[in-house]
Amino acid sequence: MADTSSPDPTLSRRSIFGLAPAALATAATISAAQRSGQNQPPNQSEPGPKNPLLEAQNKDSVFSPESDHGTVPPFKYSFALAHRRIENGGWTRQVTVRELPISKQIAGVEMRLTAGGVRELHWHVEAEWAIMLYGNARITAVDHLGRSFVDDVSEGDLWLFPPGIPHSIQGLGPDGCRFLLVFDDGSFDEFHTFLLTDWMSHTPKEVLAKNFNVAASTFDKIPKRELFIFQSQLPGPLQAEQAQAARGTGTVGIDYSFRTKNMKPAKVTAGGEVKIIDSHNFPVTPISAAIVTVKPGGLRELHWHPNADEWQYYIAGQGRMTLFIAGSDARTMDFQEGDVGYVPISNPHYIENTGDADLVFLEMFKAREYQDISLAEWLAHTPQLLVNEHLQLGTQVLNKIPKQEMVITPI
Ligand code: MN
Ligand code: MN
Repeated sequence: MADTSSPDPTLSRRSIFGLAPAALATAATISAAQRSGQNQPPNQSEPGPKNPLLEAQNKDSVFSPESDHGTVPPFKYSFALAHRRIENGGWTRQVTVRELPISKQIAGVEMRLTAGGVRELHWHVEAEWAIMLYGNARITAVDHLGRSFVDDVSEGDLWLFPPGIPHSIQGLGPDGCRFLLVFDDGSFDEFHTFLLTDWMSHTPKEVLAKNFNVAASTFDKIPKRELFIFQSQLPGPLQAEQAQAARGTGTVGIDYSFRTKNMKPAKVTAGGEVKIIDSHNFPVTPISAAIVTVKPGGLRELHWHPNADEWQYYIAGQGRMTLFIAGSDARTMDFQEGDVGYVPISNPHYIENTGDADLVFLEMFKAREYQDISLAEWLAHTPQLLVNEHLQLGTQVLNKIPKQEMVITPI
């Protein structure tokens, strides 16, 4: 225990708070190693307080690249920091404009359901795009013509529920499911959707009785509190449930689910691959998506998106992104599993794999069509003399730039 009354003028604030000099030395050594090739601060000690675990995940914030400059609003939030609502049957958490103020166009929700766990029958104003990350689920919906949709989805499958369309999700065997939901409004709130039980319990029973032409006591067992997520038994066979739901009206005219396993990547290079899913191949969706895999050492090339903000979700691996917001201002942030990144419309960026395993992430847009503009493609199709007057790269380098966008380098 440090003697806080010591008059010794060399006593640092850290030793007052109990951190031994040896620990201080270790922290300074790690910092020196981490900053190689980055901003070189004047030779100085690194007194705390410190959060070593968080700093290890955010090296480009602790010591930024020399090219970073100015004030850039934060464009990263971790689902690991989000409040997790845990129920019997599963859990959920969300990253919205409330957690990440820059994310105005899109919000995301992570959800886990046990085998038999149900996300209650509900709807909302926003469109819901989803990707299955683990396990198996049954999804149901009914459209404005009373036509039904019942399907089973597994890892890599997508679904899209249009705005206002009521739906449900249920975990199947053997171990339920885990999925990501993406909504086309940053202010979406998973805890303020229209829930079947919540609505029914806030409607007078005599009105329900009149609506269904039965006795009011029929509704005595409706839960007083919303179910939201609850444990249930497994559903019946898929085909039987599909047939039962379709009686009288048939099935929805447009498919609400999509299998990414069966599709070819839009681009494959030595550095990785990208799958693009938008209204051209998944007609129901107002939200476009790219599923990007970048191999170790690879780079999602310098580019921007002219038609929407980009909301990113990191599924596996680790990477970094520099966001350039003009006016000389740029910032680099680091990302790993479960992190959300955000890029405002037309702001240029890249994503570099900084780990030793594949980096897999989603690029999501509130736009029916996926669009991007590649720096390399732009330069390759602009008169060389003009480009060279700007950048002094020389004809040889300019000739080597591929004439088609590569998406991921190296090629
Ligand atoms: Mn929903
Ligand atoms: Mn992008």
